[in-house]
Amino acid sequence: MVFPPPFLRETLPSYGYRIAQISGVNSLRELAYLFDLDLPAFLKGDPLSLEGFASYVGHSSRVLAQGSVNAESIHRLQVGPNKQNEVRCSTGSYRFCPKCVEGLETDDHRSFCLGRTEWLVDAVHVCPIHCVRLMTATPEKTGRVQADLSLLIPKMVAALTAATPPTAEPTTLERYIIGRLDGTATHGWIDNLQLDVVIHTAEVFGAMELRGQHSSWSDIGSEERRQHGAAGADVLIEGPSAIMEFLKKHIGMGARGDDYHATFGNAFSHFYARRLNVVYHPVCAILARYVGANFRFTGQEMVFGIRTMGKRPTTLRSLCEQHNVGMKITAQVLEAQYGIRAGSSTVVDPQLIDEIAPQLKGLMNSRDAARDLGVGVELLKGLVDAELLVPDFRFNDRMLGFKRDTLDAFKMEWCEGVEREAGIRFSSKTPIYVASCAYGIRVPQLLIAIREHGIDLYRGGATRELRHMKIRNMDLWEMMRSINAG
Ligand SMILES: [Zn+2]
Repeated sequence: MVFPPPFLRETLPSYGYRIAQISGVNSLRELAYLFDLDLPAFLKGDPLSLEGFASYVGHSSRVLAQGSVNAESIHRLQVGPNKQNEVRCSTGSYRFCPKCVEGLETDDHRSFCLGRTEWLVDAVHVCPIHCVRLMTATPEKTGRVQADLSLLIPKMVAALTAATPPTAEPTTLERYIIGRLDGTATHGWIDNLQLDVVIHTAEVFGAMELRGQHSSWSDIGSEERRQHGAAGADVLIEGPSAIMEFLKKHIGMGARGDDYHATFGNAFSHFYARRLNVVYHPVCAILARYVGANFRFTGQEMVFGIRTMGKRPTTLRSLCEQHNVGMKITAQVLEAQYGIRAGSSTVVDPQLIDEIAPQLKGLMNSRDAARDLGVGVELLKGLVDAELLVPDFRFNDRMLGFKRDTLDAFKMEWCEGVEREAGIRFSSKTPIYVASCAYGIRVPQLLIAIREHGIDLYRGGATRELRHMKIRNMDLWEMMRSINAG
């Protein structure tokens, strides 16, 4: 017996049912029983079951596999043998093209009641062959795959005779879906995405373009969603660079501060909620790349589930932190050398900081330098005025920069001291601070005089600090006498 071949994109349940009818059995289940087929495995396209069935009907198992449907996942339906072709489909309604079913052996309605794979996809609204709207019939039993479509025949006939179907061109997305089901789509990047992800992403992108992500998306109807899908598919088919361009146009550079959550608006949660779903990874990767290139982050952040370094922040504070230089001193240099007044959160040209940072590196300001020497800031300034301590950088009277080496050299010179000599009593020396007060002479001038007279200092404390340094009373008296005489 010669059996008819499956129709274009006919589902395996539909074809199996037709073959069962022609073979004189009532249902696909009965046919499967006669052939000793595992029915769920057969519908999923199990190669062994297909092989047996193919030899019975006399058509290649590869063609039959095109109509297989895998309804194992409760959320999605895999259409055809390609694992990437998972889609959403309605359980409560059945759609068909009136032109496709019209005139198919009208004498037996049962034979024309075919199910087609593209009609199962929710996003397909138009028959690509006849360019007419698909019509809807409600099955007796809800289910994503209708194994027995015979119950639908009266409804389909009624729908057919009720009205002439409105014509409509298939959209970019619909044409792409058909191409994917037929295995002829060759658009590169997008072909590696799961079909369901393509449809969803296209619809979200379209909504961003046509509605805007900050207006309400709550009342989008199916017709509008179809337009959104078409608009979004135009972008997706072009690939990653077109998507980046699209985002630049519709997302921008983070106008609302640097909060990508707010800037993505309604589109945010669509991808954020699916960031751990591996099939969304290619889309999330591009979104994260875009956010990383255009939004500012202070450190490492997870963007749509992907570790993304943001744009380098260029405020004075963050640039100084990056270069490990003092912010106050940098601000002073900017003002002194370039006439730029910048606060901590002022955006500064990073190149400028790159230039001046090396000479500011490791500089201490007066306060820190004074603390390091164990003196007050006023005394430090006195030492600088007396040129006993030469700052490494001087920007103005208030702002001085000292390198650690300079401070160490000062301490080596003044705070090293002679070891305590045997026989000289502790009380026979006077701290230089006390001497300074007693004779009404400032510490820097006292130090200069000590140097001129070649007098040794003694260290009275464990650390090398000026306040611990002492002078022998004998030396002090002689020195003061010669100063007063001179
Ligand atoms: Zn059609």
